[in-house]
Amino acid sequence: MNLGRWMGVVIALVVASIVLAYLSLKRWTHLTGSTMGTTYQIHFEHNGYVGLSGLERDIEVLLQSINQELSTWNKDSWISEFNNSAVGVEVAVPDHVWKVLQCSLVIAEASGGAFNPASLGLTELWGFGAQKIEVRDLPSLATIQETVRQSDIGNLSLNEANQSLKKLSSGLQMDTSALTKGYAVDQIAAILERSDLQNFSIEIGGEVRVSGKDPNDRAWEVRLQVPVGYPHSAPVVVLDQQSIATSGGGQNYIQIEDALYTHIIDPRTGYPITRDQSLFSVSVISPACMISDALATACFVLGVEGSEVLMREFPNCEVRFILHERTPSHLVRNR
Ligand code: AMP
Ligand code: MG
Repeated sequence: MNLGRWMGVVIALVVASIVLAYLSLKRWTHLTGSTMGTTYQIHFEHNGYVGLSGLERDIEVLLQSINQELSTWNKDSWISEFNNSAVGVEVAVPDHVWKVLQCSLVIAEASGGAFNPASLGLTELWGFGAQKIEVRDLPSLATIQETVRQSDIGNLSLNEANQSLKKLSSGLQMDTSALTKGYAVDQIAAILERSDLQNFSIEIGGEVRVSGKDPNDRAWEVRLQVPVGYPHSAPVVVLDQQSIATSGGGQNYIQIEDALYTHIIDPRTGYPITRDQSLFSVSVISPACMISDALATACFVLGVEGSEVLMREFPNCEVRFILHERTPSHLVRNR
């Protein structure tokens, strides 16, 4: 081989090693967008071998398919069609709905009905549904009681073998909004993990899941939201391969007479949780965001004492309460 050829080979090898070194360099990417009436933020560390456009597309397709199955705001979604189905008609259930429903039923049972994935009738009655009815007066007790009766989870009949569902009462309306965001976060985590990504955080509308380390190579931290005029600094939660989801009435509520009613409803009584109670918010930390999301909603209904009873059934989960009261014991732990 002459000198010219040798030089060519050497240059090709140098260029190849520079390209390989560049591809294996670690870098962080931030994806953001909107879904489920809110926004999402995804941060992850990767090298140049990861197909970013493929990942983005997979996440977009996932979010669209979850919405198409579970959005009660979309009248063509699977859940809206099920809600319009006639009593006794068996309807095949797609996979996302089935997984979310299984988790919902566990939390419904454990919470003694404080969590109910079939309470859209109540949500609509109080003006928090897609129909956006403006509620100025308290609904009558008879209407509330009838809606509670129609929304009883016992009116949702599952056929495990066929993965199908049927309604046993005409007014039963499914709504998994209390854990759909958490479910979507977990599913995005699964996409990132399939690409061997280890350091990431995923957040949809305040529900968060993290893995590994943050961009500063430290443990991930989440700062809890506190009420206006809160006398202490906002608590910071350090997460290790965990999720955190928060429920509260801080943002979504209506006023009727002198009371402020939040969008979280106690399905056992049919009345919303009022904002004048001492609880500002509940956050639940657990390995899976869907569980955190469902438990946070259930705990907001149950209040501090009831939540502590519920959380005993979930020993790998932790609950944090933010109370309105200006006392140093603002942070209550269940364990
Ligand atoms: P989250 O913000 O996760 O607490 O979810 C609140 C949403 O879940 C509401 O906007 C309703 O659509 C629905 N929801 C309200 N109350 C309940 C409840 N007790 N059990 C299950 N879902 C509920
Ligand atoms: Mg929730």
